[in-house]
Amino acid sequence: MSLAGSTAIYPGSFDPLTLGHDDIVRRALRLADRVLIAVAETSTHVKRPAFSLEERVSLITEVYADEPGVEVVPFSGLLVDFAARHGARVIIRGLRAVSDFEYEFQMALMNRSLSPEIEVIFMAPASNYTFLSSSLVREVAALGGDVSPYVPHIVLERLARRYGGAPDG
Ligand code: ADP
Repeated sequence: MSLAGSTAIYPGSFDPLTLGHDDIVRRALRLADRVLIAVAETSTHVKRPAFSLEERVSLITEVYADEPGVEVVPFSGLLVDFAARHGARVIIRGLRAVSDFEYEFQMALMNRSLSPEIEVIFMAPASNYTFLSSSLVREVAALGGDVSPYVPHIVLERLARRYGGAPDG
């Protein structure tokens, strides 16, 4: 399938954006000309969100300021409607381990049933990011641990401001 000239949507809550997410964004840019990062509200089961939707959108926009192929937009509602509004027929999801698979598979099939013209593409990150999740980063950062190997520098600075402490690098 040629995705030249196409827009791929990469949806998620990105609370916060990690280097695992970034790895997927950069892989997606090899397939599509434009990657639209669709930032969702954090789900209600997240007890301690790190950043508000507005903060996440502005933070991720800053991370990709020098990347013309990446756009960042907040989103709510049905993903397939959002995709249609933006003329996108491809949704990208990262797949880390078997544990991601069941939920992702269900969601992909549901999205297909809602909108048959949309394809979901699963991408595997570099192996060193397969264990990485936003919730783990939030937890470690909140407890004062060093998350510098796992997030872009701009995110690290913002986490330090959020939880106290200074980034050292
Ligand atoms: P959601 O709440 O929709 O799962 P996340 O922000 O946690 O939102 O994740 C967004 C997408 O990025 C999902 O497809 C998720 O599987 C993927 N993802 C999260 N962390 C990583 C990682 N370390 N490597 C690859 N993909 C990841």
